[in-house]
Amino acid sequence: MSNRFDKVVALCKRRGFIFQSSEIYGGLGATYDYGPAGVELKRNVSKRWWQHMVYAHENIEGVDAAILMHPTVWKASGHVEAFHDPLIDDRVSKRRYRADLLIESHINRLRASDKAERADFVHERFIAALHAGDVPRALHAIIMEEKIRAPDSGAFDWTEVRQFNMMFETHIGALSGSDSKIYLRPETAQGIFVNFQSVLNTSRVQIPFGIAQVGKAFRNEIVARQFIFRMREFEQMEMQYFVRPGTQQEAYELWRERRWAWHMGNGIAESRLRWHVHEKPAHYADAAVDIQYEFPIGWQEVEGIHSRTDYDLRRHAEYSGKKMQVFDQASGERYIPYVVETSAGLDRTVLMLICEAYREEMVDGAPRTLMTFAPSMAPVKAAVFPLVRKDSMRERAQAITRVLRRRWNVMYDEKGSIGKRYRRMDEVGTPFCITVDNESLAGKGVTVRDRDTLKQERIADDQVEAYLAAALQGWHTGDDDS
Ligand code: ATP
Repeated sequence: MSNRFDKVVALCKRRGFIFQSSEIYGGLGATYDYGPAGVELKRNVSKRWWQHMVYAHENIEGVDAAILMHPTVWKASGHVEAFHDPLIDDRVSKRRYRADLLIESHINRLRASDKAERADFVHERFIAALHAGDVPRALHAIIMEEKIRAPDSGAFDWTEVRQFNMMFETHIGALSGSDSKIYLRPETAQGIFVNFQSVLNTSRVQIPFGIAQVGKAFRNEIVARQFIFRMREFEQMEMQYFVRPGTQQEAYELWRERRWAWHMGNGIAESRLRWHVHEKPAHYADAAVDIQYEFPIGWQEVEGIHSRTDYDLRRHAEYSGKKMQVFDQASGERYIPYVVETSAGLDRTVLMLICEAYREEMVDGAPRTLMTFAPSMAPVKAAVFPLVRKDSMRERAQAITRVLRRRWNVMYDEKGSIGKRYRRMDEVGTPFCITVDNESLAGKGVTVRDRDTLKQERIADDQVEAYLAAALQGWHTGDDDS
């Protein structure tokens, strides 16, 4: 893993963004917990997504469906039959890998070492393999012929490639047996499809319209060694947009544009975003593209935009015997709508923001690490300090904190030297630090320090709230000014 990525991971732990789950017991693979700073960041992302998708669109409604669903849902959706990853084991290290990802990395390595022609050749074979009748065998053949070695051990001693279903199973009720088997949902989308008629019947929406949801999904991922990039329990922010068949291309273009703009609005540099067209869209899709971000571990997907045809609604109509149609009053027609979905990972978006924000610089000959979050995303909007632990300064600082906490997540801190407190707040990404000092006691107001420019301004105590509101304006701060 890259040095920068290691530093980001260390900062996440040090500053209370993200911890290994069940760490006191040695941790549980590929599951993570959000700490005090992380939970704020994650909520800010999710809030801004909801704001842009649901509140900003008259024709998009939200739902919050259960994680546990009727098992037939996953037969209808195709997940029981086809939600597989092709896996291969290294006999030497006993580590398991995704065969498709091994080949993709091999192609990238060929390109990086100026073997473009060879890379193109393997790429073509790879695409053919993904469409082959026997995908595992076709992928295995490429790994053998290209002599792709195991990334960890360097060995070339592979097993066959096998398909592995990634859904977590559990049992409902007291009895365990095949009748009680259910799954933890591997995507939130199906919770939207099964509620399609209920939303249509209970709200005023008409085609085209969308249903949005933020919620947990579970996948028994095998390759799970990249911090919160790939987890077994994670959150998705999904929106299914229902359109008249034949107009899906238009909707697909529209949502590509809007989703790209949303990521940029979070403060992501456009140069670190790119499109990635799927080699083989999932079984349900007629077109699919990902938005990728240049993480320190390389370009990786953060969101997929998929044109899902009428596959899901048609299958649910078939399996449930219920009609999944809309009635077009103008033409008197009934039809099953087509769907364009936007499917973003909440945790991956958080990781992207953390990687984007991480910065190291020298200030007056001393190193400083800071997180340059947009104020809308910053976990803590401001911190208030008494310069020293003197009662009169304390009281003033606490009074200012109380006022500000009515609107924003604001921290009060009196521990350690002022320099250390500033540094701690820089690492959490707090845009403003407000300090009560001796001059404040002489009626000269407080200082406000800007995280990025390090400039300090002196303002009156009773102007602090208005100052902060103005400074945060234009950003979605989660309160009234969004
Ligand atoms: P990948 O190819 O990385 O496994 P995917 O194409 O299977 O992802 P989708 O099924 O399209 O992913 O899911 C939509 C989004 O959900 C992804 O863009 C990603 O942000 C997020 N996501 C999927 N799997 C995980 C995971 N294991 N951990 C964290 N986020 C995930």
